Amino acid sequence: GLGNITRMVKSGDMMIVDGNHGKVIIRPDESTIEEYVSNLSKWESHERKLLELNELPACTKDGHQVLLRANLEIPEEVESALVHGAQGVGLYRSEFLFLKPGEIADEQEQYEAYARVLKGMGPDQPVTIRTIDVGGDKVIPELEGFDEENPILGWRAVRFCLSRKDIFKTQLKAMLRASVHGQLRIMFPMISGVEELKDVLRVLDEVKQECRDEQIPFDESIKVGSMIEVPSAALISDLIADKVDFFSIGTNDLIQYTIAVDRGNEKIAYLYQPFHPGVLRFIRMIIESGHRAHIPVGMCGEMAGDPLSTVLLLGMGLDEFSMSPASLLEVKRIIRSITLHEAQELVDDIMEMDSYREINTYVRKWMNERFKLFQY
Ligand code: PEP
Ligand code: MG
Repeated sequence: GLGNITRMVKSGDMMIVDGNHGKVIIRPDESTIEEYVSNLSKWESHERKLLELNELPACTKDGHQVLLRANLEIPEEVESALVHGAQGVGLYRSEFLFLKPGEIADEQEQYEAYARVLKGMGPDQPVTIRTIDVGGDKVIPELEGFDEENPILGWRAVRFCLSRKDIFKTQLKAMLRASVHGQLRIMFPMISGVEELKDVLRVLDEVKQECRDEQIPFDESIKVGSMIEVPSAALISDLIADKVDFFSIGTNDLIQYTIAVDRGNEKIAYLYQPFHPGVLRFIRMIIESGHRAHIPVGMCGEMAGDPLSTVLLLGMGLDEFSMSPASLLEVKRIIRSITLHEAQELVDDIMEMDSYREINTYVRKWMNERFKLFQY
């Protein structure tokens, strides 16, 4: 959303990137620099206090426990996940292995990356590896076919995998091989219906059989999950739930497809609202479907790591929150300072409201009164 900024900066310019407010300040003056240095040290002392929570469980005051996991894009991020007390990896975006120019990552290279994450997290922490989610805004430079009129609704994720079974099977084999190093969970992105899920599960079964035939050891009880990020999947989440071991709600895409708002288009970014009542109804519905089928429901979209959403998601019954490691402890602080009952009351109140503006204002005020969210 920064428009023509690359034409306004020169090599060597000082810049301040203020991610919290979505601002970049080019060539700041002395007083702005001072202001930001002081903000930074406030943040650092807030972080130091949060780090004391690192080993404590994400448990409400009335004893309801949830799991806080990390989202990773490259294996090197394991360290940050551990420092911030992650209880496993809820989303490893494997496609980053495929996006760099050069050769497409082969089975061995993939195996090594997955094994590294599993070994890094240790034997007791689940590591959820998502199968390759390319297309849309992420294209593999080596492959043709991504030049589409409507890529966000096009050849993406499992749709790509089912038509490039060579690439898909190689990845599944690398995952199965790596599964002996810890608790690997396989997660499929962009599932839109039951047929698609059955198709990917069939391919997984084929690859498992190949491994058995070649006497390659793997975790026979490996868990598989479906991302729920397409409205059709949300609506039939009850039908999907009995075919997988877990759900993970991908709000980044679920919001995009529910409200029909391109998640990367700054002209319409004002429409991209996690608290749109339609999105909140979907989230509640998905959690209920999962629980009726006795499977855990997680979330790995950005909303899971936004402190403003924590109490709402907790009150709706979300079991696993997966987020960028830097957000884990603030979310934990909030969870540890509230009861599940209070969170459920907040959900009851906001589900009566009809507009995202009203919900945003109400939740922001409620959260700030209660938790003094970090601000500058
Ligand atoms: C999501 O859609 O919420 C998600 C986690 O996947 P990605 O952001 O990689 O599309
Ligand atoms: Mg997604």
